[in-house]
Amino acid sequence: MSISAVMPTYARTDVMFDHGEGAWLYTADGRRFLDFGAGVAVTALGHAHPYLVDVLKSQAEKLWHCSNLYRVPGQEKLAARLVDNSFADTAFFCNSGAEAMECALKIARRYHQAQGAKEKYRVITARGAFHGRTLATISAGGQEKHLDGFAPKVDGFDQVAFGNLNEARAAITAQTAAVVVEPVQGEGGIIPADAQYLKGLRAMADEFRLLLIFDEVQTGMGRTGKLFAHEWAGVTPDVMALAKGLGGGFPIGACLATERAAKDMKPGTHGSTFGGNPLATAVANAVLDVMLKPGFLAHVNAMAAVLHARLDAIARKHDRVFQEARGQGLMLGLKCKVPNGDVVARLFANGLLAVAAGDNVVRLVPPLIIGETEIDAATAIIDLAAGQLAATL
Ligand SMILES: *Cc1c(COP(=O)(O)O)cnc(C)c1O
Repeated sequence: MSISAVMPTYARTDVMFDHGEGAWLYTADGRRFLDFGAGVAVTALGHAHPYLVDVLKSQAEKLWHCSNLYRVPGQEKLAARLVDNSFADTAFFCNSGAEAMECALKIARRYHQAQGAKEKYRVITARGAFHGRTLATISAGGQEKHLDGFAPKVDGFDQVAFGNLNEARAAITAQTAAVVVEPVQGEGGIIPADAQYLKGLRAMADEFRLLLIFDEVQTGMGRTGKLFAHEWAGVTPDVMALAKGLGGGFPIGACLATERAAKDMKPGTHGSTFGGNPLATAVANAVLDVMLKPGFLAHVNAMAAVLHARLDAIARKHDRVFQEARGQGLMLGLKCKVPNGDVVARLFANGLLAVAAGDNVVRLVPPLIIGETEIDAATAIIDLAAGQLAATL
């Protein structure tokens, strides 16, 4: 037998973490790493946040799971708070980003089919997008590397260039049900959509009676300095997928929608065994307790301005290694001139965790609770690593 016991679907770095605290991760043998990957934009409040730990422990002693056959108070509270703080009127809970997107896609189909428009099922998506790894979401994302060997593609997705309104309009047919974009493409390489584009998509969706879906799995929950990234553009979607930061590391996803979009999602139309269980919703409510405190998002924006300016300076200084720094809030990327994997490996060797993304970008998505001390330490490592890489060129 040569296959590993853990199915080898990941190219993993050979390191095991034992525990974490704030923005730091520690190995059992005492090495420490500054975590600017945050489990791919998940641990928004850092590791072992004392308040989250307390809430998790006390919920663990009461009730973990009871199923959605019964009312779940934590779920009702979380839904009400997400609704109060967004465009949405209702929320469905699941366990991951892909599931949140599946729910969004199902809402789009059902919205039209319930009105008798059975032909409307196609969804316009953007090139470079990432929406998850289920069959439908790899088809929505349309990336060859994710589809390879998993044919046939799920039918119903029409891909157009990200940022190009004309192409999106030209792709609309009598079968189009919805359009989906990430306000900042994450896996695609930290590419912010401009506000005019998002506004244009909103107008286009209204004109052609399409649902506008924002995938805020990565951009949501304070990551860009607003609770949801689309707030920067001053437009709202009809449906939005959330996950990653929502549970601060506890698996939970959510699909938020307006009443108009979700009015036909009646009992029996959708479900999840684990979705929104008492343990997950207790933690997500605790995450919201922290994020909704006055000053939390101001802190994110202040730290983002410092980090972004430092990265700009580093990119200018090491212009043979980096092309530019880009992104929004604490969702930042360094576009590389050397292979991004080499940069991630060099950063790792110097004690900084970062995540590779598409378009040869290194993603920096630190916990939102970082301070200047962590920014100083991280940027010193990036400067050092870039110098080391430049010396090999
Ligand atoms: C991570 C991500 C997903 C998929 O989330 P999973 O929890 O891995 O299923 C979907 N959309 C976006 C934008 C993401 O960043």
